[in-house]
Amino acid sequence: MTEQPPEHVPPKKKTGLIIALVVAGVLMLCCCVSGILAAIAIPTFTATQANAKARACFANQRSIEGAVQEYWADAGEKMPLTKVEQLAEPIDVGGGKSLGPYLDEVPACPADGVYSLDEGRVTCSVHGSYADSSDSEDEQTD
Ligand SMILES: [Zn+2]
Repeated sequence: MTEQPPEHVPPKKKTGLIIALVVAGVLMLCCCVSGILAAIAIPTFTATQANAKARACFANQRSIEGAVQEYWADAGEKMPLTKVEQLAEPIDVGGGKSLGPYLDEVPACPADGVYSLDEGRVTCSVHGSYADSSDSEDEQTD
């Protein structure tokens, strides 16, 4: 009996190679699908987050403007308020009298904007004024 020379590759090794290729292909497909899903989801998430920050900022502006209205009602006339921070401390109105504080603390813009005050209108350095945004137009139609 002569020993036969081994054939090219035993069938068991071929099956193992095919399984390895199929697994690699499935893994690549999973990576592609998750990449596509991330490409869709991340911009949407970022936009939603920015929208939420703007809405929180506009709510802050409304509460600051409410405090300005209260101050004007107490002061009787529109005494000058130059900084938003004045609303969180007693305001000297002369004659040893002081009014307020009208805010426990000045709310902070979630995007680190700075609030400025111009004749009772609050504006954020990042988001602008809520009155100029489409947000306020939506609420007026409700
Ligand atoms: Zn803001």
